[in-house]
Amino acid sequence: MRNYYIAGNWKMHKTRAEAAALAQALVSQLKKGKHKYLVAPSFTALETVASVLKGSPILLGAQNMAAAEQGAHTGEVSVLQLKDLGVQAVILGHSERRHSYHEDDELINKKVKLALQHGLEVILCVGELLSEREAGKAEGVCEIQTVRGLAGVAAGDLSRVSIAYEPVWAIGTGKTATPEDADAIHAAIRRVVARLYGGAAAEELLIQYGGSVKPDNAAQLMAKEHIDGALVGGAALSADTFVPIALFS
Ligand code: PEP
Repeated sequence: MRNYYIAGNWKMHKTRAEAAALAQALVSQLKKGKHKYLVAPSFTALETVASVLKGSPILLGAQNMAAAEQGAHTGEVSVLQLKDLGVQAVILGHSERRHSYHEDDELINKKVKLALQHGLEVILCVGELLSEREAGKAEGVCEIQTVRGLAGVAAGDLSRVSIAYEPVWAIGTGKTATPEDADAIHAAIRRVVARLYGGAAAEELLIQYGGSVKPDNAAQLMAKEHIDGALVGGAALSADTFVPIALFS
């Protein structure tokens, strides 16, 4: 039986004071939560949120990291710097990184391997564009992104990876994949992972859904066999909307 994993991506929102207040509300309101939780604030708020989360089971995540350990990379943040702040996990391959900042599978794969090498957990995001879905290519796109994103990842490291299926057309748009459509892609991703790492590893892999998850659709999505949680954007910005998603049963 897989656990549920509910993660909040705060994107480029919140000052340190706002981030601390939200983290504080989550620490107190998720005490009775029985799932796995993560919040991913902006880099600028990581240290502040780390101190609020201390002693709580909520994981601290970053939204991205550099593909190099250190060096002349103006404007980038390294895995060593993230670990220094207490970061435990990193979101990689988010569609905004892929499409607004032109990150390709090769770069994302370098980041995945570097994060794992340094002991972080990884949420690897995959997902198709609307045009790809309309052309019947959703499954194929997610398969390629999964295979390329995981290339060279050792079987022993897979337990620190979850995959977030985030159809690009559903992110921040208020449109959600139907639970059936999402589950079909999750099942396809699990088959890919079974081919790469064997059935047992694939059965254990947590696959989150992301794309306009809200309190009123979260439970229906997560009731599906292959949907093991959610990566939440807009609704993660307030405890009023994130907590009901996180406490679903
Ligand atoms: C996201 O950014 O990963 C996301 C799913 O955003 P939203 O929930 O706002 O669609």
